[in-house]
Amino acid sequence: MKRILNIETTKYVGKKMKVCGWVQTIRSHGKIIFIDLRDRSGILQLVFTPKDEKLYEVAQKLRPEWVVGVEGKIKERPKAMVNPKIKTGNVELEPEKLEIFSKAKTLPFSIETPGYEINEEKRLKYRYLDLRRERLKKNLMVRQKVIQFIREFLIKEGFVEIETPILTKSTPEGARDFLVPARLQPGKFYALPQSPQQYKQLLMVAGLERYFQIARCFRDEDARADRQAEFTQLDIEMSFVEQDDILNLIEKIYIELVKKIFPEKKITKIPFPTISYKEAMAKYKNDRPDLRKNKNDSNELAFCFIVDFPMFEWSKTEKRWDAVHHPFTRPQTDNINEIKKNPEKILAHQYDFVLNGEELGGGSLRSFKPEILEAVFEVMGHKKSEAKKKFQHLFSAFEYGVPPHAGIALGLDRFLAVILNEQSIREVIAFPKTGDNRDLMMDVPAEVTKEQLKELHIKIVKSVNKQ
Ligand code: ASP
Repeated sequence: MKRILNIETTKYVGKKMKVCGWVQTIRSHGKIIFIDLRDRSGILQLVFTPKDEKLYEVAQKLRPEWVVGVEGKIKERPKAMVNPKIKTGNVELEPEKLEIFSKAKTLPFSIETPGYEINEEKRLKYRYLDLRRERLKKNLMVRQKVIQFIREFLIKEGFVEIETPILTKSTPEGARDFLVPARLQPGKFYALPQSPQQYKQLLMVAGLERYFQIARCFRDEDARADRQAEFTQLDIEMSFVEQDDILNLIEKIYIELVKKIFPEKKITKIPFPTISYKEAMAKYKNDRPDLRKNKNDSNELAFCFIVDFPMFEWSKTEKRWDAVHHPFTRPQTDNINEIKKNPEKILAHQYDFVLNGEELGGGSLRSFKPEILEAVFEVMGHKKSEAKKKFQHLFSAFEYGVPPHAGIALGLDRFLAVILNEQSIREVIAFPKTGDNRDLMMDVPAEVTKEQLKELHIKIVKSVNKQ
């Protein structure tokens, strides 16, 4: 018999059907055993009575989280027994056949609560059980809806979704790179992309004009509570546009997204306020102001754009000028002497997107004139020849007809965490890592075999203070 979902049983009252899932709860009332069977669609009540003694005996052995298949008749529940709290609350199934697919040990924690009270390391170690929790399942489903919405929206607007390589060359986004040794080129390394920045710019040179990607980015940052070594961003690049075109597009996406997927949420102000960096720092003392009218209202969404950032900031650790966004950002002046002479005075065509005091992401108009790009690298302390060598692909591409272009990248994990009122992005990622980048379920990072290291021409120098 073909299996149907629990949620579908309400359509088949009086019919014999098959359902499958996990035993969630067992309640024995004298001679009746009630079982809540859980599948991806929800809960269905099964009712075993001693009418069929053999079956009843097997049912008595069932334990929580065993996986079973059950055939039987769907019945309307007596009025007094209707449970309005579940979607199948007006029906129940009277089993005639029961198959036990697998048994389960006692779970290390309860999956029936939202789970915040449980030690997080334990939850992450048994993530596949943690994800059985209603709250997390819902978060993953909302995530999927948001991604689907964005895809459909952008494709309708003429964007092309393009995958860019994961094994690539370092792109400066302000973090350390994850390196991957190249077995076939001993001594050489790939870097995992901190973002698809250079590829998306090269796609503009290629003439694609409107690119997007739900892109995975990798940044090896020091342990920070709410950062992930790998995270997902909506990455966009467009040709022949001005700053307003990008901001208007983003505004439209998020207004429609909220309307469609989160209708209970209220956006504080439309159009989204655009505030200069200078004004934000003067008025709010930070560049990601929380513009909510009522910070206790979990349904309020205050979006805003911050624009006109400084192009450079002084890096105390490296004792040199660094790009506030990244070096591909276009300064607001074309005057090369001015850029080199007074870097602290130069503003950038850079914009950030902020929601309820959290930076969701940012982007910029790009320097497409090679001489400006060179000047920026020079201010950042790269010798002309060095920069040209390191970013040779970009400089060379820009010699073959490059359109003016601009883009933005928006963190998907952060957005979901804010809109779902979750404290951590780990609550909206299926398999997150800890703050110090460990995957407790897979137990990585992990050591590898001597043979693997040898193949890669790598020697591990053990530190004396072995941890
Ligand atoms: N690549 C930038 C980032 O990941 C965004 C952009 O400029 O488009 O932050």
